[in-house]
Amino acid sequence: MAIASRATKRALSTFAAAKLPEEAIAATAAVPVPLAPAPASSERALLQFEDTGRLFAGEPTPALLRTLAALQALSVGPLVDAATAALRSPAVAGSALGRAAARATAYRHFCAGETAGEAAAAVRRLWRGGMGGILDYGIEDAEDGGACDRNAAGFASAVDVAAKLPPGSASVCIKITALCPIALLEKASDLLRWQKRHPSLNLPWKTHDFPILSDSSPLHLTASEPPALSAEEERELELAHERVLAVCARCAERGVPLLVDAEYAAVQPAIDYLTLAGALACNAERSIVHGTVQAYLRDARERLETMARGVERARVRLGVKLVRGAYLAREARVAAALGVPSPVHGSIRETHDCYNGCAAFLLDRVRRGSASVVLATHNVESGQLAAARAEELGIPRGDRNLQFAQLMGMADGLSLGLRNAGFQVSKYLPYGPVEQIVPYLIRRAEENRGLLSASSFDRQLLREELVRRFKAAVLGRE
Ligand SMILES: Cc1cc2nc3c(=O)[nH]c(=O)nc-3n(C[C@H](O)[C@H](O)[C@H](O)COP(=O)(O)OP(=O)(O)OC[C@H]3O[C@@H](n4cnc5c(N)ncnc54)[C@H](O)[C@@H]3O)c2cc1C
Repeated sequence: MAIASRATKRALSTFAAAKLPEEAIAATAAVPVPLAPAPASSERALLQFEDTGRLFAGEPTPALLRTLAALQALSVGPLVDAATAALRSPAVAGSALGRAAARATAYRHFCAGETAGEAAAAVRRLWRGGMGGILDYGIEDAEDGGACDRNAAGFASAVDVAAKLPPGSASVCIKITALCPIALLEKASDLLRWQKRHPSLNLPWKTHDFPILSDSSPLHLTASEPPALSAEEERELELAHERVLAVCARCAERGVPLLVDAEYAAVQPAIDYLTLAGALACNAERSIVHGTVQAYLRDARERLETMARGVERARVRLGVKLVRGAYLAREARVAAALGVPSPVHGSIRETHDCYNGCAAFLLDRVRRGSASVVLATHNVESGQLAAARAEELGIPRGDRNLQFAQLMGMADGLSLGLRNAGFQVSKYLPYGPVEQIVPYLIRRAEENRGLLSASSFDRQLLREELVRRFKAAVLGRE
């Protein structure tokens, strides 16, 4: 066990660096990244990773072997390049053989099944093991109203499935980009940004004046006055609004928490606008609707505080999923093309600090009983800090208003460490037909690509545990 402990410490100490995506490593290569402050010993004590026997207790050995094999394969760069190229090729992804290969490999690791029923079975399995599940009907952006209506029906059935699962075991997540055509979200976001700059601008379609942007929000994406929405666009936006409200109301009626994903800056103001409309309608007594705040944005903290003040004034409860943000390269590319500073923090350390600061702010709201928070992260340091802060504030460990969340197939070590410490933990469970999930699989494969990828900490823990079990079985000692 001494060797295992040393190895775990080594894995933990290199973790912040190990999780840098390659493009970020390239961008920061010349500038040394300050090391993350080591968590205090009490923070380490809350989440235990060193005793892998306890960490993985109840997890069958074949499952651990399968997970290690999948993560190991994903760490082999050339293999991932070949697999993602195959998935991107319509000839391969569209063929029965290509789909079967994807289903047997990455799909099996990262996805909960093809149907809501299969995803529900995954929630039940997680629930028996002390965790919950977030049903994520895997669809990509909608181009027109027809696609939006089909997607809305898919989300509604996810809510119905979640409602039949054991109480408290399941939530549902949605993407507004699947409920409102992308081009319209872009236009509405432009108008919201222009109104921030020119408060007298009248937007006849707006149904609430809830704060969406803050004084520090970058407005560079809207350099000149955008055209007003046409009557047809206003009608389309109204339909999108109705679809969002219908999903929110369904969740409220059935007591199922709803998490709304955040996207890239060009469409996010309109997403926040529609999400807040849902929260105003459904969060009076319980936090049903949770918007997402991306801590990699420079204005994240200010917007979060503005939003918290706004909901308090409106006498509704705050619901927030906190993430770091997934569109780093895209935001940097758009800003560079416009010749303006990126809306994303200048370094990963600033993003980490912003995440941990926003988490502390939200935990204080949970303590006061006015918010429900989902801390969605694979970062061990953030998990440790938040767990320690929650303890300091006296938030009971099983409080349902504080959830941690990780994606299926990722950061299982952190999920189990948090669960073992008594916190509420859920896994994001994407489901849907293989061909529908391909873009998601490519994103996950790329995130885990390379030896220093997001999965290095988990591979380390799994290896330690498998060696320990092997020694216990064959040699009769650990
Ligand atoms: C349950 C769940 C739900 C999610 N939902 C969403 C969502 O709705 N919308 C969304 O955008 N993302 C979402 N994500 C993805 C998330 O935003 C992150 O991309 C991913 O989780 C990695 O971040 P991390 O907190 O695990 O930390 P780490 O892996 O430690 O940090 C990596 C993150 O740091 C940031 N970063 C990296 N390099 C730099 C740099 N040079 N400068 C500044 N910042 C940098 C980036 O945000 C990067 O993703 C979700 C993740 C989870 C687990």
